[in-house]
Amino acid sequence: MIEAIDLLSASVIGGDTFDGVVIGGGPAGLAAAIHLRRHGRSVRLVDSGASQAQRIGRALNVAGYPDGVVGGHLLERMRRHLRAADGHVTYDSVEDIRRCPDGRLLLRLRHGTLLARNIILCTGATDPPINLPGIDDVASAGLLRTWSWQEVGDLFGKRVGVLGCSRLGVPGAADLRRACAEARFIEIDCAAGKAEYSSCHAGLERVPGVASHVALARNSTILVTCDDGRTHEFDLLLAAFGARPRTYLANQLAVRLDVHGAITVGPTGLTSADNVYAAGDVAGAPCQIDVAIGRAAVAAAAVHDSF
Ligand SMILES: Cc1cc2nc3c(=O)[nH]c(=O)nc-3n(C[C@H](O)[C@H](O)[C@H](O)COP(=O)(O)OP(=O)(O)OC[C@H]3O[C@@H](n4cnc5c(N)ncnc54)[C@H](O)[C@@H]3O)c2cc1C
Repeated sequence: MIEAIDLLSASVIGGDTFDGVVIGGGPAGLAAAIHLRRHGRSVRLVDSGASQAQRIGRALNVAGYPDGVVGGHLLERMRRHLRAADGHVTYDSVEDIRRCPDGRLLLRLRHGTLLARNIILCTGATDPPINLPGIDDVASAGLLRTWSWQEVGDLFGKRVGVLGCSRLGVPGAADLRRACAEARFIEIDCAAGKAEYSSCHAGLERVPGVASHVALARNSTILVTCDDGRTHEFDLLLAAFGARPRTYLANQLAVRLDVHGAITVGPTGLTSADNVYAAGDVAGAPCQIDVAIGRAAVAAAAVHDSF
C-alpha cells in the first residue's frame, strides 16, 4: 500500500487513470493493447525493447503467414496496428508497482509514473546465457533454436545437437528422440552439468567430452569442438535449458508463481492479485507467438468485461 502523499507527488503520465496498462511490447503485450483499444478502453503500453520475437529469423508457425514472418517485422506490423487504433507505446521500463489504498495500481517508470485500474503483465521470459564461444554467430545465422518452441516437423532428417546441462529443460528430450533419430546431447560446461548428465540426457546419444567452442562452417553447418579435441558436425543446435520468466514485477505484488517460476493465471489470465493479469511467456509454456497473442486477447477481453 502507498500513502496518499506519494500519489499527490507523482507526476502521472497522461494525467489520468488508465483502464489498463500493459507492461511489455512483445506479441503478447501488443495484442493486449490492440484489443483493449478496439474495445474502446484507455490503455498505455510500456516497453523496454527486449522482445524475444525480435530475435526470430523467420517464424513459420504464425497463423496468416504461410511463408513465415521475420520477428521484427511482425512486431512492427503490430505496433502499426496499435497506432491505427490510437494506442501509444511508452518506450521505458517499469521499475516498480504498488497498490494504492483505493485498489488502483501506481507504476513507477524510469521517466514518470502511471496510474492504472488494471495491469496486464506481458514481460516475457529470458534464455539463460549460454557460455560457449562462437554461439552468438550460430544464433545470428538462425541455427540456434529453443526446444520449447521448436516445431518437430522442422527437425526431420537434420543432425540436431541438444545443448544442455540442467534437468529443467531436458525432459523434452524423450520427445525429441522420437522425432529426430539423429539428435545428440552436447554437454556444455556449467556447474550442474556433469553431476546431472546421467539423469537428464533421456536416452539421447551423447557426444563424448564437453563442448569448448562452436563455429559456422562454409556449408552452413555447425562445428562443435569438444575438450577432447574432436569436432562434430550438426545442422541445428537446440538449447534445452528452459526459459526464465521475467517475474520481478509480479513478485512485488506477491503474485503466485508455479513450480517453473511462471505466473499462475486462471482461464481469463487473472493472476492471484486483483486487477493484475498476465499473458505470454511470463505466464508459462508453450512459449509461442500465437499462444501469447491468443492469451493476451483473452486477458484484454476480461479487463474490458470487468467495467
Ligand atoms: C531465437 C528465438 C526464436 C523463436 N522462434 C519462434 C518461432 O519460430 N515461432 C514461435 O511461435 N515462437 C518463437 N519464439 C518464441 C517467441 O519469440 C515468444 O514466445 C514470444 O516472443 C513471447 O511473446 P511475449 O510478448 O510473451 O514476450 P516477449 O516477446 O519476450 O516480450 C516481452 C517484452 O516485455 C518487455 N519488458 C520486460 N520487463 C519490462 C518492464 N519492467 N518494463 C517494460 N517492459 C518490459 C521486454 O523488453 C519485451 O519487449 C522464438 C524465441 C526465440 C528466442
